[in-house]
Amino acid sequence: MNPSKHQQERRALLDAFRTSSGTSAILTDIDGTLAPITSTPAEAEVPEGIRETLAKLSEAYLLVAGVSGREPSEARELVGLRNIAYFGNHGLELLRAFEDDAEVVPAAEPYFERMRELELLAREELAPLGAFVQDKGIAAAVHFRNVPEEVGERCVKFVKEHAERLDLVTGKGRGVIEVKPPVEVDKGTACRRLIEEAGPKRAMFLGDDVSDLDAFRALAAMLDEGTLEQVVRVGVGGPGVPEEVVSESDLVVEGLEGVKKLLQDLIP
Ligand SMILES: [Mg+2]
Repeated sequence: MNPSKHQQERRALLDAFRTSSGTSAILTDIDGTLAPITSTPAEAEVPEGIRETLAKLSEAYLLVAGVSGREPSEARELVGLRNIAYFGNHGLELLRAFEDDAEVVPAAEPYFERMRELELLAREELAPLGAFVQDKGIAAAVHFRNVPEEVGERCVKFVKEHAERLDLVTGKGRGVIEVKPPVEVDKGTACRRLIEEAGPKRAMFLGDDVSDLDAFRALAAMLDEGTLEQVVRVGVGGPGVPEEVVSESDLVVEGLEGVKKLLQDLIP
């Protein structure tokens, strides 16, 4: 495609958002989209230029929200804006603008006690061995990256056994096992809830990873149903970005610089 044609198409996609910001929504992933991926999640930071731009957008748009795998209060701290909503824990918890406490999706509420039980057991049994037990609100994670392999295996076995007994589900990553209620939520259900509550005519989602595809697909479904009149799925390209993120997006931007430029172009 020649560059001017690309520019025209991009402008056409973004025009309605900019000129009708009061009926438009901007939803975005955080890590890898607004903040660079760092070796530990605690080091991640949203660059000042992106934060400032988002702050301007939040004043003009009907809805601006962060949608993340992180706990929502952590997502808010990372972005640094209190006046937008954060749907965290992969769709389990919503922290509304200016509120101090997140609300758990109703289907997950009955699992609070059981999550607490598992977390306490893990603290008693696994923390003394060197594992790090992370309280993620309605979810929990046991990190064993920095302990001997046999301790890691013990962590996985322990968490899986108790999760099964308590009717909770686990997901294993590299050096971590996560536990959460057996509730069908993801970034797609999170986007749907935010959009149905706010009622925008058009919505955009920015993301860089496979979990963001659920959001892309939810937006596409809402367009098909007629809930939305226009959707724009923005894939953030860069090293290690999964192929589907690019192939399922309407627009691809390069890295955080590309995200910043796009967000600036959305300012009315
Ligand atoms: Mg991401």
